[in-house]
Amino acid sequence: MKVGILGGGQLAQMLAQAGKDLGLKFKFICPDEHACASRYAEQIRKAYDDQSAHQELIDWADVITYEFENIPTDMVRKLEQSSTLYPPSGALATAADRMSEKTMFNALGIGTADYRAINSLQDLEKAIETIGRPSILKTRSDGYDGKGQVVIRDNTNLSEAWDTLLGVPCILESMVDFDREVSIIASRKPNGDIEFFPLTENHHREGILRLSLCLDKEPLQSKAEDMVRKITEHLSYVGTIALELFQKGDALLANEIAPRVHNSGHWTQDGTNVSQFENHLRAVCDLDLVKPELLAPAAMVNLIGTLPDGEQVQKYPSSVSHVYGKSERPGRKLGHINLTAKKATTEQFEEQLVSLLELVGEDGLAKMSKD
Ligand code: AMP
Repeated sequence: MKVGILGGGQLAQMLAQAGKDLGLKFKFICPDEHACASRYAEQIRKAYDDQSAHQELIDWADVITYEFENIPTDMVRKLEQSSTLYPPSGALATAADRMSEKTMFNALGIGTADYRAINSLQDLEKAIETIGRPSILKTRSDGYDGKGQVVIRDNTNLSEAWDTLLGVPCILESMVDFDREVSIIASRKPNGDIEFFPLTENHHREGILRLSLCLDKEPLQSKAEDMVRKITEHLSYVGTIALELFQKGDALLANEIAPRVHNSGHWTQDGTNVSQFENHLRAVCDLDLVKPELLAPAAMVNLIGTLPDGEQVQKYPSSVSHVYGKSERPGRKLGHINLTAKKATTEQFEEQLVSLLELVGEDGLAKMSKD
């Protein structure tokens, strides 16, 4: 089968890598000269809204998918009219707007932080009276990796906070005093068959995911699965989806969905018998899904801004490096390292994780892992 992808970044790259063993062929649209996916798939080097690029993909592909969310929904909707495209544009539209997303969660009986739509400074002043401080003002759309967000603390000037986000439509959310952040990833087929990956613990710094951990099957797994089942049924979802959650005790509050393969699932390349990338392709190509099984405790450490020395990384015998071929730049995701306990004892795995976190400059997380 031939799979067309909108986007040529690392997620498209890893989809194409995973699809090789399934005998799939890939072509993607991306205007960038140095698109990560170009090492593994044919590139249509044109703008995302180029009609001739769309037509080429429609004519060539059996199914079209996408690897990022900041694509205009209208464009995806149009492509959907002339081709088989998954995940459906409705899921993209919901995920692209934090208000629609939270409204959907609540309508499905899924809890969230308290929230209000904010369209003016007056709205913000009024909402803060009920939501309180600290709280978070976020742009409704186009935010990622913590961008487009301002924390409203006791001393934050509301007018300045509102101006920082340039007066675009926003949402004010209460600050959740969570114990930890987790995510669950699932893949669903057109006939509704669904498979879930194990719940993953996530650690962010400066709004960017730094570390994902899956040490064992979690007691909250089935609660998280029920949430994803409701969401995917509601959206008639096809493909891999990620649901990001805040955990407080036994309670899970939904933060957001990503209608695509997700950074917090990269560890599945080495920690489960099937990766999120492979099951995404199986889902959108209507092939049988593989039931994910955790092979051993696993962790993923993101490589952000700079890449560590390759020789240093080889010191970790239980690790697999995945680099995206991008140039170094502060805050840029350049690759990740998956560490598993497949060929190590749990003690060796933990020691290697601490050392790896120190190597990539995540000393705070290394200390936490030690404790
Ligand atoms: P988001 O862009 O919504 O994924 O937010 C990025 C990160 O900011 C999250 O992973 C959390 O660490 C933090 N965050 C976002 N919203 C909230 C919230 N309502 N309460 C507490 N922390 C939050």
